[in-house]
Amino acid sequence: MKLCRFGEGRLGVVEGTTVRDVTPALDILPSHRYPLPTCDLLVAQLGPLCERVRTLAGRAPALPLAGLRLLSPVANPGKIIGAPLNYQKHLEEVRGDPQLHHDNQIAAIHRGGLFLKATSALVGAGEGVVLARPDRRNDHEVELAVVIGRRVRGVPRDEALGCVAGYCIGLDMTVRGPEERCLRKSPDTYAVLGPWLVTADELPDPGNLELSLAVNGDVRQRSSTRHMVLGVPELIEFASAFCTLHPGDVIMTGTPEGVGPIEPGDTLLASVEGIGTMEVAVRAA
Ligand code: MN
Repeated sequence: MKLCRFGEGRLGVVEGTTVRDVTPALDILPSHRYPLPTCDLLVAQLGPLCERVRTLAGRAPALPLAGLRLLSPVANPGKIIGAPLNYQKHLEEVRGDPQLHHDNQIAAIHRGGLFLKATSALVGAGEGVVLARPDRRNDHEVELAVVIGRRVRGVPRDEALGCVAGYCIGLDMTVRGPEERCLRKSPDTYAVLGPWLVTADELPDPGNLELSLAVNGDVRQRSSTRHMVLGVPELIEFASAFCTLHPGDVIMTGTPEGVGPIEPGDTLLASVEGIGTMEVAVRAA
């Protein structure tokens, strides 16, 4: 199932070029008072929610997908984990280009580990990217994004895919410069998630998906998730060895080679096989 969020917080199920508005399915989610749980309520109830969506979809209003303003399919992730330098050719391009590494330490992922992006950076495809530091180079990074479905800690890699709720396309936007990675990747709008959540049953093997990104029609990045240094199971094992993963937590799994600068007015077209394609506009602040 492909679940999207659009407009002012509506819920849709994607059927080709049509979206069925199944917002009333959200009524099954529990209402909470402060303090709120540290997970995404929709992802935590994904099984029952999908059941309700199936019941409603047939009689739900059908809208053309093209006209919708898509929001992040996960509204409230507790954390967004990033996988730096998780494609060998991207590691080599960063090591070889001072404009990319800025004399920061460039360690392979086995040694350098993971990083966190602020959840306040999260937007959907329809909201676009607002350049935070126009005085700097700002780069695109297309990635497979994994959405965790269960509360887990210390998951071995051979059980890891059982913890996944689904997948999205992720854009791990980056300001270049000397600062810590987590700061440069956390401006508002620098975590794009979309265009929808594809439930894990539709993508049994996340380790063999083509992914690409074009800027104004020019293809800049094109690779396959089979070239990831640490695959999805290994990334979940690595992350959950350090911290508990909660429903709705997002892991951006790293970008392949071909990262490059973006400018206001650019249109990014990002695709991941089995998920779809999303168009994201870049604008000045
Ligand atoms: Mn990245």
